[in-house]
Amino acid sequence: MIFTTRFAPSPTGPLHLGHAYSAMLAHDMAMAEGGTFLLRIEDIDQSRARPAWEAQIYEDLAWLGLSWPQPVMRQSDRLPRYRTALEQLTAMGLTYPCRCNRADIEAAAGAPQEGVPQFGPDGRIYPGTCRNRPAVEATGQDVIRLNMEKAVRATDLRSFTETGSEFEGQHQLDPDQLISTVGDIILVRRNMGSSYHLSVVTDDADQGITHAVRGADLFEATQIHVLLQSLLGLPTPVYHHHRLIRDDQGKRLAKRDDARAIAKYRAEGATPQDIRKMVGLPLLSG
Ligand code: GLU
Repeated sequence: MIFTTRFAPSPTGPLHLGHAYSAMLAHDMAMAEGGTFLLRIEDIDQSRARPAWEAQIYEDLAWLGLSWPQPVMRQSDRLPRYRTALEQLTAMGLTYPCRCNRADIEAAAGAPQEGVPQFGPDGRIYPGTCRNRPAVEATGQDVIRLNMEKAVRATDLRSFTETGSEFEGQHQLDPDQLISTVGDIILVRRNMGSSYHLSVVTDDADQGITHAVRGADLFEATQIHVLLQSLLGLPTPVYHHHRLIRDDQGKRLAKRDDARAIAKYRAEGATPQDIRKMVGLPLLSG
């Protein structure tokens, strides 16, 4: 199996040092293994994605010395694929439409109880209001959720391998943990046709990703991805969740952190080797 990895930015702002680290690390790993480095544009959120940011991503990555095969996968081209994946889960009886807005969810969640987690890797743990509503056709205004209690019983729960990071080891999915600390995740967001979780698992499978290299902030979401892979009969890649690049105050960099945008360092005359030094990657010879 050829080592295949990817960098999957969302074109919603400038790439900063954290993105550069993630992309260069994945590219270095692929080169070291004689493998392939792919690019994927995660633009399902069309309300935030901009062509200008996408163009800037290509420019910055090429400047950093990275190359990738064409054509680049773009999530906005793949809505029919996500629909098929959703239909597969619906046919298994694992999905339901949800009408709740944020305020409804806050109200239904009630006062925090000691020892009961309120937030998981998909945000606030859904209190389940719409789970047992009589079945109705979903409208474009509804979100579609996964019924987690049913989902963990519908498949053999897999484990996944994490290599070369602080999370190194074999991680077995735990049904109780999925139910109580993750809950009924969103499969399709309002007016979006998919969600990050549904898209990422179908995309990784369709791109033949053998090693998913991404930030440590996504480690907790990996159990969701591995569950979906097993429900959808998709392969589970090996994962590597790398450290996050932080600012001088120790805060992780955000898209709006323009001060650390690659474009800004470029304009100031930095070289790609300077960027490698800043993020602690070994310098490339030659
Ligand atoms: N699009 C995600 C991000 O920009 C990355 C998703 C992934 O690598 O799985 O954080």
